[in-house]
Amino acid sequence: MLDPEVAEELAMFRESTRRFIEREITPHAARWRKDGSVDRDLWRKAGEAGLLLAGIPAEYGGAGGNFRHEAVIIDELAQANFADFGSPLHSAIVAPYILHYGTEEQRQTWLPKLATGALIGAIAMTEPGAGSDLQGVRTTAKPDGNGYLINGQKVFITNGQLANFILVVAKTDPALKGKGISLMVIETDAVEGFRRGRNLEKVGFKAQDTSELFFDDVRVPASNLLGSEPNRGFIQLMEQLPQERLIIAVQAVGAMEAAIQVTTEYVKERKAFGKTIFDFQNTRFKLAEAATEARIGRVFVDFCIEELVAGRLDVVTAAMSKWWTTQKQCEVVDECLQLFGGYGYMAEYPISTMWTDARVQKIYGGTNEIMKELISRSL
Ligand SMILES: Cc1cc2nc3c(=O)[nH]c(=O)nc-3n(C[C@H](O)[C@H](O)[C@H](O)COP(=O)(O)OP(=O)(O)OC[C@H]3O[C@@H](n4cnc5c(N)ncnc54)[C@H](O)[C@@H]3O)c2cc1C
Repeated sequence: MLDPEVAEELAMFRESTRRFIEREITPHAARWRKDGSVDRDLWRKAGEAGLLLAGIPAEYGGAGGNFRHEAVIIDELAQANFADFGSPLHSAIVAPYILHYGTEEQRQTWLPKLATGALIGAIAMTEPGAGSDLQGVRTTAKPDGNGYLINGQKVFITNGQLANFILVVAKTDPALKGKGISLMVIETDAVEGFRRGRNLEKVGFKAQDTSELFFDDVRVPASNLLGSEPNRGFIQLMEQLPQERLIIAVQAVGAMEAAIQVTTEYVKERKAFGKTIFDFQNTRFKLAEAATEARIGRVFVDFCIEELVAGRLDVVTAAMSKWWTTQKQCEVVDECLQLFGGYGYMAEYPISTMWTDARVQKIYGGTNEIMKELISRSL
């Protein structure tokens, strides 16, 4: 579907991304899973390789590509069974907020540092008492002198241990409820009153640092309000959510394809009753079904990427891509694991991490129930 020149350029970008992952990520993945985080240095290396902010214009330090480039990175990380690395969130969620809503000064100040990995980004929306219902956040950013005073608590924040650039969803005018939300930037190295909680122990994504964050009278200058006006946060969040959901869908399809690949290889080797596991019709039919679902997912996600690049991806289509692909990811990976027998339950077999990593895909980025709510409202 793509223009041949664009397709060729993307293929080259995919190749260099794959080589980076093979060289800088795969050899360390097991250690990072034990450590609960990637090394800080991986961010700098990814920045040097042009893999951070691939979709941000070059004038702000990005690689000058678009969401197709981000999708290549997300896909390759999933194919390599290491979607733990929080770079898609940093590059394709945090940075676009600055690009789209920041003032020119904010773009010039922050984007180049995010592109090199000097700053590591996180977005802090969820709180212990507010997840799906974001309007219920209790963190406040009260106008105070010529700045804001931030108080509150966040939970489940990706990149939470390493991030030093945090976009915090806070109420600048609590009386306005959801309409009084703003996005505040906290450069953690430059403030007092900021504290990280535990690196939360999760079922999967063991190398992704997911944390609680605490803000006690954190004072930031007025220039750390994203954009030039307060109380625009909810609209900004709503506008960016389709892209965030598509990131998850791209990851889901890459993970499905990877699971089918490792499973096909395994069942063609493993023998029982004098033949390979692949020779059983049940195995071949299960894999045929999985391959069909992955293909449908791939076609739909490719369509969504093109819609997004054209500026047309709507909330409903993005929600469809998120719930369907992640539901299928969980089903496909579970069927694949079954075909490994007991070995599938052993941590040393990649299918086991694919299985534990898949589960959260139905939960974060807006749960799949919330996706269906959004879709049903359009019917
Ligand atoms: C590994 C991980 C990483 C994350 N990273 C981040 C991050 O970087 N930044 C961030 O801000 N957050 C992050 N989150 C939080 C995530 O987005 C939330 O967990 C998610 O939005 C759900 O919120 P909740 O956990 O409070 O569940 P709740 O909102 O309490 O939901 C509980 C259940 O009720 C259902 N439910 C709620 N409302 C409705 C409804 N209206 N109709 C039907 N069912 C409903 C939900 O679907 C769910 O099944 C992360 C979470 C995890 C697990």
